[in-house]
Amino acid sequence: MKKITIAIDGYSSTGKSTVAKQIADYFDYVYVDSGAMYRAITLYALQNDFISENKFDKNPLINSLNNINLKFNKNSSTGKAEIFLNGINVEREIRTLRVSEFVSPIATLSEVRAKLVQQQQIMGNDKGIVMDGRDIGTVVFPEAELKLFMNANAEQRAKRRFNELIERGDSVSYEEILHNVIERDRIDTTRKDSPLIKAKDAIEIDNSEMNLEDQFQTILQLAKDRVAGRV
Ligand code: C5P
Repeated sequence: MKKITIAIDGYSSTGKSTVAKQIADYFDYVYVDSGAMYRAITLYALQNDFISENKFDKNPLINSLNNINLKFNKNSSTGKAEIFLNGINVEREIRTLRVSEFVSPIATLSEVRAKLVQQQQIMGNDKGIVMDGRDIGTVVFPEAELKLFMNANAEQRAKRRFNELIERGDSVSYEEILHNVIERDRIDTTRKDSPLIKAKDAIEIDNSEMNLEDQFQTILQLAKDRVAGRV
């Protein structure tokens, strides 16, 4: 069967990774959470004190990029890919609100983007990949056979993210999550290098009122049509 590339972009916490994983599992494709890579670089900046109080120092981070090694490894018990920063599993640490607060400013840096885009393109060399992020259909895989652009209202998105963080035991307020979601969208859509925009040939999906199963079935059909060469 023909292997394709599926690019899923969209605003923060629109459920991109949930559906990306479902689709990758269905076709036995590789799933890559590109946001995890930007988050791991942000964690590195926090760990090395390139961020103090509420400011970050971009030069030491840019000068250290060659020392940052990122790898995804499959967790043998869950079957899910987890991100390793210089050999250490940081899958949990990259999801904190502290990382979320700094990841969008760090993702504006062209040096960071160039490093990550290059790695992402290598991962997609053989197709058979579902990648989610902000610039996948526009910059990383402009030739992807299927491009999706996900949206939902901000309150709905903040509620989902809030529930996720509360469930894993983090102490956060709904208001700070809502603020973070809106602020990240603002920075992501207005940055100079690779801003979040809908690719011309992307299909927009607003899932504010969709349940997970409806969303999966809708996207699965779009993917099946492309795999079968019907579109
Ligand atoms: O997908 P996630 O919400 O984990 O992404 C975290 C942040 O990483 C985004 O808000 C954005 O600033 C950045 N990002 C990006 N380009 C991507 C993926 C994520 O700039 N392809």
